[in-house]
Amino acid sequence: MEKISIVVPCYNEEEALPIFYDEITKVAKELKKVTFEFILVNDGSSDNTLNIARALHNKDKRVRYVSFSRNFGKEAGLLAGLEASTGDFVAIMDADLQDPPSMLVEMYNILKQEDYDCVATRRVNRKGEPLIRSFFARCYYKLINKISNTEIVDGARDFRLMRRRMVNSILELKEYNRFSKGIFSWVGYNTKWLEYKNVERVAGTTKWSFWKLFMYSIESIIAFSTAPLVIASFMGVLFCLIAFVLIAFIIVKTLVFGDPTSGWPSLVCIIFMVSGIQLFCLGIIGSYLSRTYLETKKRPVYIIKETEETDVKDI
Ligand code: UDP
Ligand code: MG
Repeated sequence: MEKISIVVPCYNEEEALPIFYDEITKVAKELKKVTFEFILVNDGSSDNTLNIARALHNKDKRVRYVSFSRNFGKEAGLLAGLEASTGDFVAIMDADLQDPPSMLVEMYNILKQEDYDCVATRRVNRKGEPLIRSFFARCYYKLINKISNTEIVDGARDFRLMRRRMVNSILELKEYNRFSKGIFSWVGYNTKWLEYKNVERVAGTTKWSFWKLFMYSIESIIAFSTAPLVIASFMGVLFCLIAFVLIAFIIVKTLVFGDPTSGWPSLVCIIFMVSGIQLFCLGIIGSYLSRTYLETKKRPVYIIKETEETDVKDI
């Protein structure tokens, strides 16, 4: 019998998790010819999430859980879930029911009948989201797709069902700074996109502030494009050209009008601008350097404190 693993990263999801469990088990009942395993990844929650995961495991052995020693972020949660999964198919879902579990049936049928390795989802609208957030999101997708060779689909969710071979390829990417949307696209394979309308959270609140999202977008640009590094060279050439024109202008002006000392205010402005651009470029190089530094340390992406197989009392 085939098995579907459902990977669910959870961070302070005590309110949403029981509802999620009810919904997903309903879907599991619909797919009669498949067995399921639900892997809850507790990402260092400070609420009751871990206790709920333990209780669900005691009630239903299909529920497994991995609990981190602290909050490592959703990307680490996804990796841990994929590594723990044993199914022939693996789905990734949020605990807040923003990814409609009922779509799993359709996704599974597509993978069974058609020649795809992955069925992924994208939101076609951003209802319920603040307007400026949608605006910046749209700008971000335009920018990253211009400067990166890896396609990042606008509105793509992490919600997807993949075949084992694709999951194995994803697990071969051992990088520390993980950006899953890029990684899913980078590994290739045939992906079918299903569209759906944005659903709001059933309970709890989003963990993403505007600032966190902004930093995440910078992270992804650094992870999947080296274009910003070229900015320094480009600016250098541009400024040399401008300097040549200005030198020629000043020489001619001095020869014709003979006034060599004027123009110090413009000089100050130029110094400010050029040094600003230099610092900006230095910052970009620093960002790449710091990521390289983190990668060379080879720290684990997450640390597991407890799973359903190890009881806390034994440790
Ligand atoms: N999440 C996590 N670790 C974090 C932040 C979020 O595991 O540090 C989980 C969270 O519990 C949820 C999923 O990632 O299941 C998506 O988070 P959220 O709903 O806050 O994001 P949004 O849907 O607003 O993008
Ligand atoms: Mg959500």
